[in-house]
Amino acid sequence: MSKVEKFGEFGGQFVPETVMNAVHELEDSYAKYKDDPQFKAELAELYKDYAGRPSLLYYAEKMTKDLGGAKIYLKREDLNHTGSHKINNVLGQILLAKKMGKKRIIAETGAGQHGVATATVCALMGMECCVYMGSVDAERQSLNVYRMKLLGSDVVPVESGTGTLKDAINEALRDWATNVENTYYCIGSVMGPYPYPQMVRDFQKIIGEEIKAQLMEKEGKLPDCVVACVGGGSNAMGAFYDFIGDKSVRLVGAEAGGEGADTERTAATIARGTTGIFHGMKSIFLQDKYGQIAPVYSISAGLDYPGIGPEHAYLHETGRADYVAVTDEEAVCAFEYLSRMEGVIPAVESAHAVAAAMKIAPTMGKDQIMVINISGRGDKDVYQVARYRGVEVEN
Ligand SMILES: *Cc1c(COP(=O)(O)O)cnc(C)c1O
Repeated sequence: MSKVEKFGEFGGQFVPETVMNAVHELEDSYAKYKDDPQFKAELAELYKDYAGRPSLLYYAEKMTKDLGGAKIYLKREDLNHTGSHKINNVLGQILLAKKMGKKRIIAETGAGQHGVATATVCALMGMECCVYMGSVDAERQSLNVYRMKLLGSDVVPVESGTGTLKDAINEALRDWATNVENTYYCIGSVMGPYPYPQMVRDFQKIIGEEIKAQLMEKEGKLPDCVVACVGGGSNAMGAFYDFIGDKSVRLVGAEAGGEGADTERTAATIARGTTGIFHGMKSIFLQDKYGQIAPVYSISAGLDYPGIGPEHAYLHETGRADYVAVTDEEAVCAFEYLSRMEGVIPAVESAHAVAAAMKIAPTMGKDQIMVINISGRGDKDVYQVARYRGVEVEN
């Protein structure tokens, strides 16, 4: 009998009958393996030997002095293999798929980063891989399409709807329902029907566990504030989770404000969204007055999902975490700032967290500690930022 864990009113399993069997099979398998010592040992080895964990916790001394408030540390998820936190989740899920006897992996991707991470781990583990990508996204991110193919994956452009991430998810769900026998659906963030939000969080919570241990060693105490960017919310959940019970630790999520959370060109779900049901879960979404999912916009392709994972909706509703919207302009300024100040070019997604941190750190005491999760590296974004600044470069 299925026992669906929810986050207050958020989460759940809102999927068509055709997908329910697949969801239940996954639920049973995850329950079986999540505390299995053999599974945990294999995953720990992959984190260490393939992804390059633990990632560094780096004291940003110049930035600390410049901002004149809290002592700032950067959690360097950008140094993982494939350049972001996404590999943590994909290694976990595909290892699980292998235990379940699945031979074929499907995934959705927006900007292509989750698709590339999935294609990478499929190459490593010898799995067949098929990535669904909105046709508009596939055109915008042609380099990532080629990257996935190079790694041996099929990429299927999805023409329906707006040809973006939400349409790719719909198509992946359809494939899963049809091919559940041999196919595993690897979701890229803390979203979708139970048990995905919990499972993806569990595969990402290593980030916060490492922060806690590394800071204990360096400072002998907990941080006062942890800041992370929020798209679907997986790097933020990963960074936050181990601190939820530590009430002295302020948790701050930075959403993509786009051209402003008070404009139509935004992806600031918490600032602007309402409760709804979409992609298998009850959560907060950007939707119009008819309940149709609204188009989203942000300079950061990794943050422009029209919803947020249900656990974030819960952390927001209960006041345990604060969410702030960061505009494109603020994110680009933070992108440039961290590059110059510390010699670290962050992903434009992560730059949203840096921007939020730059506002909060000066209001904190010098004896306080802030950790910013740098979810990924910015090499992929240099061309776009140059264009945003009106600088002519060849790509
Ligand atoms: C995909 C991505 C994000 C957004 O996804 P979350 O699930 O919100 O973490 C953030 N940063 C980087 C570098 C990404 O690749």
